[in-house]
Amino acid sequence: MSNFVQPLNPVVTQMAADKLLDFQLQVRDIPNLVRLTFGEPGFAVDERIKQALYAAVEGDRSHYAESQGELALRKAAVAYFNQHANLAYENEDNVIVTLGVTEAINVVFQTLLSAGDGILVPEPAYGPYFMSIDLARGKRVGVDTTADGFKLTPAAVEKALTQADVPVKAILMNYPNNPTGVTYTRDELQALAEVFEKHNIWVISDEIYSTLTYDYEHVSLAELLPRQTVMINGLSKSHAMTGYRIGFILGDKAVIDEMQKVHGAWDFAIPTFIQDAATVALTEVTEAPGEMRDAYRARRDRTVPQLLAAGFDVVNPAGAFYLFAKIPVDLGSDGDAFAMDLATNGGVAVIPGSGFAESAAAYIRISYAADDADLDEGVARLVKRVAELRAEGVRFD
Ligand code: PLP
Repeated sequence: MSNFVQPLNPVVTQMAADKLLDFQLQVRDIPNLVRLTFGEPGFAVDERIKQALYAAVEGDRSHYAESQGELALRKAAVAYFNQHANLAYENEDNVIVTLGVTEAINVVFQTLLSAGDGILVPEPAYGPYFMSIDLARGKRVGVDTTADGFKLTPAAVEKALTQADVPVKAILMNYPNNPTGVTYTRDELQALAEVFEKHNIWVISDEIYSTLTYDYEHVSLAELLPRQTVMINGLSKSHAMTGYRIGFILGDKAVIDEMQKVHGAWDFAIPTFIQDAATVALTEVTEAPGEMRDAYRARRDRTVPQLLAAGFDVVNPAGAFYLFAKIPVDLGSDGDAFAMDLATNGGVAVIPGSGFAESAAAYIRISYAADDADLDEGVARLVKRVAELRAEGVRFD
C-alpha cells in the first residue's frame, strides 16, 4: 500500500462549501419535489439564437476563438451595454468575454485583490462570492443590510470602512440583488458613488439582473463612476442562456488588459460557436429580456400577497426573480430546519437564508424564475405546509 501523504492547499480545504449547492444535493433525491431553488429561467432560448449556434457548428466554427472574445461579440457587447445602461465605453478593448459571470467574478477578484486585501460585501449576498474571495486570498468584510430593508446605505459603508481591520480595496455590489431582489434608484446610487469615490475603492458591480427591474430603470455604477467601476454582466438571466455560459467584464482598457492575462491563463477562450450565438442574442434578440421581465413581474405580483397572507415578512422585490422571506414568527427562526421540513414533508424546495448571510438564518429564498405552473404549485404547497405546521403547533428554533 502506498504511504503517499501530501497536504492539499489549505485555502481550499478550509473553504466552506457553497450552501446553495449543498442544500440542492441534500434534497436531490426527494421524489415529486417542486423546486423553487435555482435562479434558472423557465424560458426556452430564442429560436434565432439556436439557429445561429447550429449554423456556426455546420460552418465549422470549431477552432480557437480570439482569447479576449470574438471581435463581433465584443463589439456587440459594448454597443448593447452602452445603450442598455447609458454607458460610454469606447470599443471592443473595454470588454472580455468570459465563461459566465462566474468566471468574470473570479478574474476580477484575482486581478484587483492582493493577498489580505479587504473587500466590502453587502450581505445577504450570492453565496459563491465567498469562495471566490477566499480563492483570491482576499478578506471579506461583510456589511449587514438586514436592518435597512436589505439596502446598503452610505452611512453603513462609512462605518464598515472605519471598523475594518484590513485595508479595504474594493466593494462588491450586486443589484438587482440575489437573494433579496432589492435594487437602487439613481439618487441612492449617486449617494453611494460619492462615498466610493471619496474612499478611492474599486467598485465591482455584478449587474447580471440589470434587465430585470420592475419599478424603475436600472442605473449602472459604471455610468456614475466609469474609471473606478468594473461592471460584470452576462446572458444567463437576460436571455435565459444559463447553459451557454456567457459573461462579460467591462471596464477601462488599462484594467481590462490586466484581467485579460488572467482570463487567458484560465480558459484561453470561450467556445467559438457559443460566441456566435451570443452575438445574435445581443444584436437581434433585443425584445426577449423585456418580455421575460413582464412575465416575472406578473409572477412576483401574484406570489408576494400569498406569502404575506401566510405570515411571511417579505420586502417587495424591485428586481431579479427572488423573494427573500422571513419565516412567520409563530413558526420560529430556524430557516435551515424550516426549509428541510418543506422539502421533506411539504413537497417544495426553497433555499435557506443562512447560505447568503449569517444574519439571515430566519429567512428562505424562493426563486420565481421557474415556469408558471411550477411556481403556483410550489407556492400552494408552501402555504399548505405552513397551515399544517400551525395546526400541529410546530416551531423551528
Ligand atoms: N452573480 C449572481 C448575483 C447570480 O445570481 C448568478 C447566478 O445565479 C451568477 C452571478 C452566476 O452567473 P453565470 O450563470 O453567468 O455564471
